[in-house]
Amino acid sequence: MKKVNIIGAGLAGSEAAWQLASRGIEVEIFEMRNEERKTFAHRTADFAELVCSNSLRSDDVHTAVGLLHQEMRMLNSLVMRSADANKIPAGSALAVDREGFSKFIESELLATGKVKISRREISELPVESNEKWIVATGPLTSDLLSKSILQHSGEEHLAFFDAIAPIVYKESIDFTKAWFQSRYDKGDGADYINCPLTQEQYLEFVNDLVTAEKGDFKDWEKDTPYFDGCLPIEVMAARGVETLRFGPMKPVGLTNPHFPPAENEAEKFFRNRPGKPYAVIQLRQDNKIGTLYNIVGFQTKMKYGDQQRVFTKIPGLEKAEFARFGGIHRNTFLNSPKLLDEYLRFKKSPNILFAGQVTGVEGYVESAAMGLLSGIFVAAEMAGKTVARPTPQTAIGALLNHITLGHEEKNSFQPMNVNFGLFEPLAKKTKKTDRKEAYSQRALEEITSWVVKI
Ligand SMILES: Cc1cc2nc3c(=O)[nH]c(=O)nc-3n(C[C@H](O)[C@H](O)[C@H](O)COP(=O)(O)OP(=O)(O)OC[C@H]3O[C@@H](n4cnc5c(N)ncnc54)[C@H](O)[C@@H]3O)c2cc1C
Repeated sequence: MKKVNIIGAGLAGSEAAWQLASRGIEVEIFEMRNEERKTFAHRTADFAELVCSNSLRSDDVHTAVGLLHQEMRMLNSLVMRSADANKIPAGSALAVDREGFSKFIESELLATGKVKISRREISELPVESNEKWIVATGPLTSDLLSKSILQHSGEEHLAFFDAIAPIVYKESIDFTKAWFQSRYDKGDGADYINCPLTQEQYLEFVNDLVTAEKGDFKDWEKDTPYFDGCLPIEVMAARGVETLRFGPMKPVGLTNPHFPPAENEAEKFFRNRPGKPYAVIQLRQDNKIGTLYNIVGFQTKMKYGDQQRVFTKIPGLEKAEFARFGGIHRNTFLNSPKLLDEYLRFKKSPNILFAGQVTGVEGYVESAAMGLLSGIFVAAEMAGKTVARPTPQTAIGALLNHITLGHEEKNSFQPMNVNFGLFEPLAKKTKKTDRKEAYSQRALEEITSWVVKI
């Protein structure tokens, strides 16, 4: 049997390889990272490296992403199996030990005996090749390949901007001010580290963010838009003084044990000010052994010196040591509704499929999900079978729909996290409070019947 070539050993490429190899198909993965060469965000040469947060977000099946997790588990996803095997505490989120997560994926792939890895860059889109290719090169697709894709797509550009959050060493955090607690005591009840701010501290902090020195944009970068779900903290701060207090710094569902709530009205009157934080900054565990914590929602393009100066004003982080500062990066994606068919095939060269973030989905789980589908589609095609697409009643089908068929104005296509807004509406009128459950139930029934067809 012929082999399938995959470009990129990231989340999507690894999942696609698994879907093929576990169906007995030979795979060669081309990965440009090695011991010397990395990307702006990748720090290792590992498979499926998580480049920023170590969270695969909510695992609650009544959220769109939690539902996608569950569907992928039902579709024999290697990424989800690895996430479950390497899970670390994070409330209702599915966070993983990033190193264990990558190593698990690599060893499972190599154990199939079907996967070969070639450590080199592919710099040209293989439009002349007779073999099957899956391009899963992600948001940081190499410059040469980006140029080649651009040229073959006939588009004007393939990029926009995203940002990442800083990581702090736990031992440098001052726990006479900070405390462990999850909002509303979810999960183990103590999965996050919280740093409280008074009103005065909050206002100064917002002002610092707005006035801090930011990384420069090159000329061609100036009009490139941000992805709305990953706005830099300073861009949010500039939108209004209260924006952060209603976003990542909301002071709800938390009780500061250093200033427990007052027991009576008189005490409340005198103790009101320090007892209830005006805003809270949360840090989430970043590695299994719990030595590193990332500042939740604090992706930033502030210069490193200013990150050090501004973030060490946060109560509890005065002596913080940073394992990594935040930064800004390019995101490469195709105008997929125009360029791909409904099975992720490049219309101009149908032997080539695209998968992962480069197709215009956003996020680790969504990228892996598109890798999973590309593997299933190629395997079916090689077996001479026609496989129906998963319907937009499912999370995975809704995403596929968004990037292939579902977008009305094909020239304003923007990447998207999975969300219930992408799903086919419910047939029956359902109370708002019951809607998410109804979406989930319908989706899981649909996937159950799709699994037996593939
Ligand atoms: C800096 C940054 C931070 C992010 N933070 C988050 C986050 O916190 N949470 C979240 O859910 N998502 C985040 N994302 C978005 C996204 O989900 C991840 O980038 C995810 O890794 C995408 O999966 P992928 O498989 O499509 O690409 P990747 O995982 O990036 O894999 C692509 C692979 O292709 C390789 N490659 C590229 N070009 C070539 C070539 N020409 N030849 C051979 N190999 C090549 C790369 O080295 C890489 O290994 C972030 C993205 C970036 C860039």
